[in-house]
Amino acid sequence: MDRSNNLATQLVAPGTGDAIYAFAAKMFPICRSITGDGVRETLRLIAEHISLDVHEMPTGASVFDWTIPKEWNIRDAYIRDARGEKIVDFANSNLHVMSYSVPVNARLSLTDLKKRIHTLPKQPDLIPYRTSYYSEDWGFCMTHRQLESLKDETYEVVIDSSLADGALTYAEHLHRGETEEEILLSAHTCHPSLANDNCSAVALLTLLAERIGAIKTRYSYRFLFTPGTIGAIAWLSENDDKVGRIKHGLVLAGVGDRGAPTYKRSRNGNREIDRVLTHALAQTGRPATILDFSPYGYNERQFCSPGFDLSVGLFQRSLWGSFPEYHTSADNLDFIRPDSLEDSYRIIANAIDILEGNRIYRNTLPKCEPQLGKRGLYAAIANDADATAKNMAMLWLLNLSDGTHSLLDIAERGKIPFQTIKSTAALLAREGLLK
Ligand code: ZN
Repeated sequence: MDRSNNLATQLVAPGTGDAIYAFAAKMFPICRSITGDGVRETLRLIAEHISLDVHEMPTGASVFDWTIPKEWNIRDAYIRDARGEKIVDFANSNLHVMSYSVPVNARLSLTDLKKRIHTLPKQPDLIPYRTSYYSEDWGFCMTHRQLESLKDETYEVVIDSSLADGALTYAEHLHRGETEEEILLSAHTCHPSLANDNCSAVALLTLLAERIGAIKTRYSYRFLFTPGTIGAIAWLSENDDKVGRIKHGLVLAGVGDRGAPTYKRSRNGNREIDRVLTHALAQTGRPATILDFSPYGYNERQFCSPGFDLSVGLFQRSLWGSFPEYHTSADNLDFIRPDSLEDSYRIIANAIDILEGNRIYRNTLPKCEPQLGKRGLYAAIANDADATAKNMAMLWLLNLSDGTHSLLDIAERGKIPFQTIKSTAALLAREGLLK
């Protein structure tokens, strides 16, 4: 393989998984939501690595059929028992407070308190993650075991939060390539202390953006860090005139758990990004799940809404909702691993390499096969470990390079790795057999 030609090898460096993990761990403690200072603090950490364009959309602004909500911030929250002991403390886990809880300062009987508490009876040792973004409410989350241990007495509940006019914050980073055609890479920034969902993907994309900055690329790359749903809607609403530049895209979420990779196709299902991810996953030689599009999941729901229908797929490891740690306190820093993060990163880097290198050539001698032996082409590759594959790659390239088949088409048809097809095409182009 012509390694200098392989962009993926330029993007991967030793310790990639550890670097992504360390950054995810740094963001993990912050209490994020769809708005508020937790999001701003997260973006400030990302901006220590890459330049960020931060946007603040004011409360009340219309974005398509939606309205930017009030901004939520929280300083403290707790429940005290009759002896004044804090039995639940926001300082220990930000999952203890339902996101977007309005301020409260009250004394409640056990019966009334229980109406405000969310637990997971089937996972009695875990704290659930709950939100109430679009209806004003408040609540606490705790382990079911703790709920069952509560005595029949009076409790003091305090949520020191604010829900007021403010803004929704999102950010983007653009790496300019040779063309204005863009690859959109996005991750959601609205979850509090959940490591896989989605500190993992925010950290992965930050490192990728940092490294791609040092590389000359054909495409421009737009990295988007927005809250789920309303953030993507806000960005699309603000960039309605520019989305035509987006040629390919990926939403990343939950890229650090031990599970095998999952790819969910774009709405169309057969766009280049879908074929590229299918090829990149097959190249790992390990199990992977490829799913058809469904209108549920992450921000691909907005990018793939019919008015946009962008070529955007979803990459993650275990499918969201399919594992017991999902949206619980068990989605912590033990749940994600450097080697899984690195594996996800390598797959994305390889996909970028394929997208960057996927071109269409034309055979300059299409009438019968050109005589490869007299050009020394068999000898040129005779010592390569993958000489057989390269021989076949030459024949497939010469046969299918009729101006309509891309290198990826040929790789798929010949069942040959894309990088072998790409480097062999470069060899044939140097010999004047392809242009
Ligand atoms: Zn989630």
